[in-house]
Amino acid sequence: MKQEDMEHLIAKAKELGASAAVPVSVPTIKLGMWTRMKCQYGCPNYGQTLCCPPHAPSAEFTRKFLADYTHSLLVQMTIPYDPEDAKDWNAYDRKIHLALTDLVIGVEREAFLMNYYKAFALKAGRCRLCDTCNLKKCVHPDRARPSAEACGIDVMALAADNGFDSRVLRGPVKEFKIYGLILLD
Ligand code: SF4
Repeated sequence: MKQEDMEHLIAKAKELGASAAVPVSVPTIKLGMWTRMKCQYGCPNYGQTLCCPPHAPSAEFTRKFLADYTHSLLVQMTIPYDPEDAKDWNAYDRKIHLALTDLVIGVEREAFLMNYYKAFALKAGRCRLCDTCNLKKCVHPDRARPSAEACGIDVMALAADNGFDSRVLRGPVKEFKIYGLILLD
């Protein structure tokens, strides 16, 4: 991938709200079967949307899928946290995840238009495009993308391996960071 193209996509990510964006070599991305267990046992979003397990691609599939790529862009959003804003957690969570969706889909589209036709975005967290997912046929296939962790990607390691402080948050929380990954080539 041309250096100037990557620089253009980094600038685009920042224009779309990223607090940081860094190129990632896809073969360095770590996957694990354990992420599925964390989704199934402990996450309230398990089975709630077509972008989460058991509907999302498995780690085995994702390992093969990632083998089609060399270059990617990891994007970070920084969300200031004020408990007052988050009193209605559902609305707050939805707003954050729609912003992250706009960011990763915006970069994916920009890359596609630059002739990186394999560009494909993944994001952290469940799909929030519908209030309730119909769990049968996606009504926003142009924007719904699977959760990276649901597909077996170790997002904590991905962030840490690429220069971000990705330790588990302990209170008092003043801001938090969420991530998306756009596969490019
Ligand atoms: S866009 Fe709607 S139908 Fe599609 S996966 Fe997301 S919640 Fe489900």
